Amino acid sequence: MSGQKLTSSEALREKYRMERDKRLRKDANDQYVEIAGKYSDMDEDPYVDPGFSRAPLTDETDVIVIGGGFGGLIAGARLRDAGIDSLRIVERAGDFGGTWYWNRYPGAACDIESYIYLPLLEETGYMPKEKYSRGPEIFEHAQRIATHYDLYKNAALQTQVTGMAWDEAASRWIIKTNHDDEMRAKFVIMSNGPLNRPKLPGIPGVESFGGHTFHTSRWDYDYTGGDVTGGLNKISDKRIGIIGTGATAIQAVPHLAEGAKELFVFQRTPSSVDVRNNHPTGPDFAASLEPGWHKHRMENFNTLVSGGYEKEDLVHDGWTKSIREIVFAAASGKDITKISPAEFMALSEQADDHKMNSVRARIEEIVGDSDTAEALKPWYKQFCKRPCFHDDYLPTFNKENVHLVDTDGQGVEAITPTGVVVAGKEYELDCLVFATGFEVGTSYTRRAGYDVEGRDGQTLSSAWEEGTRSLHGMFAHGFPNLVMLGGAQGGFTANYPHNLDEQAVHAAYVLAESKARSVDMIEPTKEAEQAWVDEIIAKAMMRDAFLAECTPGYYNNEGNVEARSRQNTTYGAGSVAYFKILAKWRDAGALEGLALTNA
Ligand code: NDP
Repeated sequence: MSGQKLTSSEALREKYRMERDKRLRKDANDQYVEIAGKYSDMDEDPYVDPGFSRAPLTDETDVIVIGGGFGGLIAGARLRDAGIDSLRIVERAGDFGGTWYWNRYPGAACDIESYIYLPLLEETGYMPKEKYSRGPEIFEHAQRIATHYDLYKNAALQTQVTGMAWDEAASRWIIKTNHDDEMRAKFVIMSNGPLNRPKLPGIPGVESFGGHTFHTSRWDYDYTGGDVTGGLNKISDKRIGIIGTGATAIQAVPHLAEGAKELFVFQRTPSSVDVRNNHPTGPDFAASLEPGWHKHRMENFNTLVSGGYEKEDLVHDGWTKSIREIVFAAASGKDITKISPAEFMALSEQADDHKMNSVRARIEEIVGDSDTAEALKPWYKQFCKRPCFHDDYLPTFNKENVHLVDTDGQGVEAITPTGVVVAGKEYELDCLVFATGFEVGTSYTRRAGYDVEGRDGQTLSSAWEEGTRSLHGMFAHGFPNLVMLGGAQGGFTANYPHNLDEQAVHAAYVLAESKARSVDMIEPTKEAEQAWVDEIIAKAMMRDAFLAECTPGYYNNEGNVEARSRQNTTYGAGSVAYFKILAKWRDAGALEGLALTNA
């Protein structure tokens, strides 16, 4: 197998199928277990002092926003812009920041360009320091937004929502929390985050490990030493294992390798790791930008990564380059607007092969040991899994203290009190790090951590038992004055905050309009909701063939591409089209599909 090069397209297809089939499991999403029991502290907040208490809140605001990550912050900002001042953000963490509050593992950084990833740059007057921001800068920016828009005022931090119910008589939501609050609000915006619940693999014996252990989103620096910049100076006598080789592990592994006596990287599916090439923001960059540049740049990126056409590639990085190679370079001089869908598919496939061959070739160039290099090669199309960009991950495997333990797609076999077993061999460890990601395929309310009781006592979990039902992924029939951000049936873009911003603008528009029209209740009609569900299912089928061929992962519901996941997916024609639908709907001004009533 060593140095395997498959150049013919058919040979590659066959290899991809073989590698996918090896990984398909009947238990799909059920292979993961909830963080509970011995590991329940993996879901707690290690960054605040224990024992925080305050008097319960029973007051009323116009809007309560649940979640203080980028979604909640942008919603707060857009509400302020729309003249809605009576609001409160409720957040379970000790500060704003969401993903960037929790994920402080060594090397944490974002590989979407900072000038498009960080929200509200023009509004806050901030210019990121580098093309790709590191975690602390992004976390700090979350606080900058909160301060700029005065969102700390009235915020309820360290507050976990435990449930919310619609009070029909008063036309108000009542939000209950772990501090015995019963806050009231006319509107609620839920922005719970898509990847907020750490998950563990249900490996036999997972709870039996007797050594030290933690999840990457709750990094234990007391044990490892160092901080988010690295310098893990307390583990030089330790044998460390890490399970998982996704986007998080790619960033943390070089630091673990630097600090540990021995590092064992347990791999099930290798990531595609391309060039990162970070650099400081040039002194002339800010001066070159015209007002409105931020939105323009986000849209330029989003169109390109969605396979659309732009005259210029402003971001010009690994994401847009891949798409250029897939779409444009492959067309080699052909007018892309005049080719048939079948020809387009064939060209895309060729370009994807070209891209992935170069990703695999890069591994051979960098990694000295040929068996290790072979095991690190990804055998799937680039956008089957989240592509990674890093310049230190692959060279790490040339270090003598680093051992790749490839499980040939099967995953770790067992965990014992003293270590991890793969193919019958036990690897003894002092510490085991779970880089096993976050719940994606589980129900919305399970991930939110609370249920929502709407009109006539119906819960959101029961209304969505057979799949998500919404208008535009944001409003649900039976749940008046409720807006959801960032969930299923909305838009998907690699630049996640872009979608949150478009939805936050939309939410602020709807709330401001209902205020201007003196409306007490807004709620999507059954018909409008059904029409959107039908549209989601119809469009999702467009991607079924692509996803079915992919290696299992959270993009394709762990390989289980059945009807339920089609209903729980994002808008299949892409976020460019989705954002246009929202904008057109606002421009029409009729609030079509929403019933407006007065109490
Ligand atoms: P992922 O879900 O992407 O990765 C989890 C890893 O755990 C996978 O490698 C998975 O293997 C592995 N795994 C699960 N079960 C087992 C098992 N039984 N045995 C062995 N391995 C197992 O989580 P991450 O935390 O890495 O990333 C989550 C998301 O966060 C990313 O997809 C990305 O969207 C985002 N992120 C973004 C970053 C950025 O730069 N912007 C940086 C970091 C994260 P398998 O692939 O086979 O399922």
